[in-house]
Amino acid sequence: MASLPPSTPPTTTSVKLSPQPKPKAQDKAPSKAKPATKSTAKAPEPTNTSPPDYWPTVAPVSSRAPSDSLLQPVPLLPVFALVDVNNFYVSCERVFKPSLQNTPMVVLSNNDGCAVARSAEVKALGVKMGQPWFQMQKLAKEHGIVAYSSNYALYGDMSERVVNVLTDYTPDLEVYSIDESFLRIETTMHLWNGATPMGHHVKEQVMRHTGLPVCVGLGHSKTMAKLANHIAKKNPQFNGVCNLAHITQEQRDTWYQSVAVSEVWGVGRQISAQLHDIGIHTVYDLASAPIKKIRSQFGVVLERIVKELQGQSCLALEDLPPTKQQIMSSLSFGRPVTELSELKEAVAWHIHSASAKLRAQGSFAGAIYVFLQTNRYKPNQSQYHPCLATALLEPTQDTLQLTQQAIASLEKIFKPNYCYKKTGIVLLDLQNKAHQQTSFLDDGAAQQQSEKAMVLMDQINQKFGKNTLRSAATGIRPGWKTKSENKSPNYTTSWKELPEVK
Ligand SMILES: [Mg+2]
Repeated sequence: MASLPPSTPPTTTSVKLSPQPKPKAQDKAPSKAKPATKSTAKAPEPTNTSPPDYWPTVAPVSSRAPSDSLLQPVPLLPVFALVDVNNFYVSCERVFKPSLQNTPMVVLSNNDGCAVARSAEVKALGVKMGQPWFQMQKLAKEHGIVAYSSNYALYGDMSERVVNVLTDYTPDLEVYSIDESFLRIETTMHLWNGATPMGHHVKEQVMRHTGLPVCVGLGHSKTMAKLANHIAKKNPQFNGVCNLAHITQEQRDTWYQSVAVSEVWGVGRQISAQLHDIGIHTVYDLASAPIKKIRSQFGVVLERIVKELQGQSCLALEDLPPTKQQIMSSLSFGRPVTELSELKEAVAWHIHSASAKLRAQGSFAGAIYVFLQTNRYKPNQSQYHPCLATALLEPTQDTLQLTQQAIASLEKIFKPNYCYKKTGIVLLDLQNKAHQQTSFLDDGAAQQQSEKAMVLMDQINQKFGKNTLRSAATGIRPGWKTKSENKSPNYTTSWKELPEVK
């Protein structure tokens, strides 16, 4: 991957009471003389006389400790960027099928049930997130909506490629979700002549290296960056990059007035309804609400959100995703299942995938929960939704031991003559190795052997595909598997499915 542009910016940390940058209506879009390739990249020289946005935005004098002297470096105000891929799943499909660029399209959930991603054209037709595909049939015929089954192997790999590009811009990065990452950039943004030009550079480089369109939101806090991203998406004049950290207070107020409070990150439907009741309708209303009142009525979480909207960073980047406290795997069947043998195969598949995740985070499971469900949406069929949680004698991360236990639980709860729609498992009571309690009769030899076998299995599956080596209990050709009738090939993760050029 490419390196940073080689320009040497002015030193920013030693400036004490430099004038605040004169805010501009909007940061100037970066000049066309932008680096053509990463290796020859050179940040453009500032051409105007007004201070560029790499000028330090220093903390106000009143907020500094009395011991601060003129010789001490002044802390820079944090600047966060939120990079979010537009219509992620749809965009991934379009990278390999450019002919779909302006075609209305949706990506469907497991079993081809509901829309989990919609292109802009489909959103404009009024299709809602989560709308079932069968309800869209008439609209689909009229407007030629194309539906794809979800292809998570492809999306996961494309997501990794985006993050790879982003690591060129700062070491402080938080992968927030499959299509969103937070970057902290106040110490590196000067290399691109400021936050806004850097945002445009990010946007171009992600497009260049992955073919995916992104929007970049910039602000002094994560909540502000998230809001800026929303504004960038809805207002084409930003050309995909909105910087709320570098505009005047009046301009910020105007933007805040234009966005509904429900769009603020962390403000759910319930809280926004309560806020409406006390006359808070827009982001501006919330950001200028009396902080004490917010705290007493809604608690510290909303108080923090208000501070973040005012430009005070309260939420830090999370470097590592928190260790999961439980790991779940479940899926609906492609057709009703009545046989115990098929249910056993499905449960073994769930253990196979959940236990690989368990080992990846270095945990051991102390208990397993197994459940079965008939179809709740078919009330004329007999209903049965049993579940069973069992504590293990010793915590384990061994696929075979977990499979054995899960199947034993399944046999206990299974009843014949029901049409089952779904089964799943949850690994519970997760603990790391240091806290693992073993039996005092155990000399550890069996566990060592099991660990070796699991390491080998994970290595083989990593190299040749995640289901190459698995327990025989998962079956050979599962007939119960989920429907995905129009799934695109795994273009980027399978040698057999590489895209072909005609
Ligand atoms: Mg997105």
